[in-house]
Amino acid sequence: MDLLNDLVEKGLRRELPTRDEARAVLETSDDELLDVVAAAGKVRRHWFGRRVKLNYLVNLKSGLCPEDCSYCSQRLGSQAEILKYTWLKPDEATSAAEAGLRGGAKRVCLVASGRGPTDRDIDRVSKTISAIKDQHEGVEVCACLGLLSDGQAARLQEAGADAYNHNLNTSEATYGDICTTHDYSDRQETVRQAQSAGLSACSGLIAGMGESDEDLVDVVFALREMDPDSVPVNFLIPFEGTPLASEWNLTPQRALRILAMVRFVHPDAEVRLAGGREVHLRSMQPLALHLANSIFLGDYLTSEGQEGQSDLNMIADAGFEVEGAETTTLPEHREQAGKRPEELVAVRRRGAGTTLPPNA
Ligand code: SF4
Repeated sequence: MDLLNDLVEKGLRRELPTRDEARAVLETSDDELLDVVAAAGKVRRHWFGRRVKLNYLVNLKSGLCPEDCSYCSQRLGSQAEILKYTWLKPDEATSAAEAGLRGGAKRVCLVASGRGPTDRDIDRVSKTISAIKDQHEGVEVCACLGLLSDGQAARLQEAGADAYNHNLNTSEATYGDICTTHDYSDRQETVRQAQSAGLSACSGLIAGMGESDEDLVDVVFALREMDPDSVPVNFLIPFEGTPLASEWNLTPQRALRILAMVRFVHPDAEVRLAGGREVHLRSMQPLALHLANSIFLGDYLTSEGQEGQSDLNMIADAGFEVEGAETTTLPEHREQAGKRPEELVAVRRRGAGTTLPPNA
């Protein structure tokens, strides 16, 4: 299929496909599905081999949010029967993170419900980040605290955060249909603030909210413009008690096509299989590992994921391997691009004269 050959070639060169090509991936038939997975799998393996990065969510504050994101079980007025609690203390969050780290997680994602943090919240989260980093060398910490105000991203970076997550979720054109209390540009601005502060940006989408193919292409291309290092792909979990409770729009085949399209548009980014994979991909989850190079281990924010051991078994059975703490997830060109200029300069510690090889 010319389309797939062209997309593989472009993916290996990190070249942006056209919007028509991206849409054509979503329009492929079930007969073509394995070809689509195989093609996107070539791009995935080129940049990430057979490694699967494991991420672990710690929900620092759950529910009680004043915002009205219609997909969210923590929204204002949600009747979903979820856990509701206010901020975990740093030692409680650290012990929660340890369960994931013992299971092989390389990144801990510290998430809090709400429109955005106060400066006092940033203090609390900074303490939690320091506590986790002090006790677990090499762990990556990502914060996900909502919309950031000036200076907050820099404070998180100084506290040791490696990354900041804030998803665009859907296209700009439909954003007003899923949320009225903040807008799309607020979300873009927070991602930019995180990038400017030297944090690795993590920003993705939620599929299955009733959007069109065009909307999916829009959000995935808007993400590519911002060029986050990590792109989580969530599949809507239609929680009872939320406005989208009846939106069961996805099939496993559709979910795989969406992941393939995201991989072609973000060939060298960490494409992360996120919320909803169990309910929408079901027995097709192992095929998704050929597209995404990163998954969450264990539970999500307000829903239970499959057992961690089942994930580890699935990864091994599908012929993939858990990425070790010593391995750098991103291809080298991205790692270097994410560094601030001062981090690229090695301070001279070799004494007054450079030591040269004897025959130089
Ligand atoms: S997505 Fe975040 S901001 Fe929106 S309702 Fe849920 S917790 Fe609140």
